Amino acid sequence: MTVTVTQPAIGGPQLPQERRLVTEIPGPLSRNLAARKDGAVSSAVGTMLPVYVAAAGGGVVVDIDGNSLIDLGSGIAVTTVGNSNPRVAEAVAAQAAAFTHTCFMITPYDGYIEVAEALNRLTPGDHDKRTALFNSGAEAVENAVKIARSHTGRQAVVAFDHGYHGRTNLTMALTAKSMPYKSGFGPFAPEVYRAPMSYPFRDGGADGVTAARRAIEVIEKQVGAANLAAVVIEPIQGEGGFVVPAPGFLPALAAWCTANGVVFVADEVQTGFARTGDLFACEDEGVVPDLIVTAKGIAGGLPLAAVTGRAEMMNAPHAGGLGGTYGGNPIACAAALAVFESIEADGLVDRAGQIGATLAERLTALQAADARIGDVRGRGAMMAIELVEPGTTEPDAALTQRVAAAAHAQGLVVLVCGTWGNVLRFLPPLSIPDHLLTEALDVLERIFKDS
Ligand SMILES: *Cc1c(COP(=O)(O)O)cnc(C)c1O
Repeated sequence: MTVTVTQPAIGGPQLPQERRLVTEIPGPLSRNLAARKDGAVSSAVGTMLPVYVAAAGGGVVVDIDGNSLIDLGSGIAVTTVGNSNPRVAEAVAAQAAAFTHTCFMITPYDGYIEVAEALNRLTPGDHDKRTALFNSGAEAVENAVKIARSHTGRQAVVAFDHGYHGRTNLTMALTAKSMPYKSGFGPFAPEVYRAPMSYPFRDGGADGVTAARRAIEVIEKQVGAANLAAVVIEPIQGEGGFVVPAPGFLPALAAWCTANGVVFVADEVQTGFARTGDLFACEDEGVVPDLIVTAKGIAGGLPLAAVTGRAEMMNAPHAGGLGGTYGGNPIACAAALAVFESIEADGLVDRAGQIGATLAERLTALQAADARIGDVRGRGAMMAIELVEPGTTEPDAALTQRVAAAAHAQGLVVLVCGTWGNVLRFLPPLSIPDHLLTEALDVLERIFKDS
């Protein structure tokens, strides 16, 4: 099957690829469900844009009131190959009809092995690798730390300013931001330390090597290499604000880790699987992590996560030391194999590059016309703008909220992130047709003119 990469015919149960508003947002049926949610669901589980979904695919999310919104979020970088991607839908249906669960630790099955083989082949580096599968990004990050501690016999772990690694106890400790992720949920896991990130917009534009030296100084003085099991870092930070470290930062850190027997863990949960215009973001600078953690985009929305890495590290924990009831569930594995197939057959690495070029061009033009856009950054189909008081780096979270609310009201699913809540991020599914991406950027441009 040949598919042109400019208009991929992937994703979606034949939904019209259009922005269509037939009620106010959210509409009456969604508001009715929101009221039921308030009576049934913990109020601690928030919903950013409470339109209740009926269908999604290509570049749209259709709600139960009949509105069709342009998807610039992919369910937080999950439906990279498109919602309801036909390959994924077929693989899931076939696997569900065969068997849904046996527990890989009890009576195993081939889908798990195939996913592990694919990840060992696709992730950076041609060394001998092994993989273990889990259910969520946070669970996989926790397991990467377990593996690094077991391999090194050391306990300390370093994470970075603005980092996000999940909401479980150990990953809350690794995550930088207090509200809403950590506040009131302590005590947190011990032996977790924080180092300064390379954040060119906010650290005076320090080059990557200088920023790495600053981080390594903190690590050596406050932790000590001899005590350090792992450095855990997102190659481009996700929730922290799509912070792209200066060139040279990641290679210098990785080299220091290798020289000091520290396990370099790349958390590619948000950046992985073609999102950034490479299969993995580490590849941009040729960085080969010891362990790479993947989740989100791995299985088209089915819960699956993985730790892949050097065989001697992955094999360090004792037999039975890693696992879980659902880890590597057969339906999720079938979905992942379909995702890998779609990325290759539908040319999605290139497609992410094209989307990135469009986003970068339009957002840079927007910045030139509007001094409140302090920074445009990201890579591939993972781009963001940081909003500030003109001419300063003073965050403008109120403007960000206003723009996001206006975008939602006009049928764009956009997400906010960043330590100060002043970053608008764009994570469209790679199945979005060009005309929808252009329309979304036109709408955004008008919103900035009116805000
Ligand atoms: C989302 C995310 C996680 C946590 O993944 P969950 O599946 O929500 O547990 C970890 N790391 C990064 C970089 C993420 O973006």
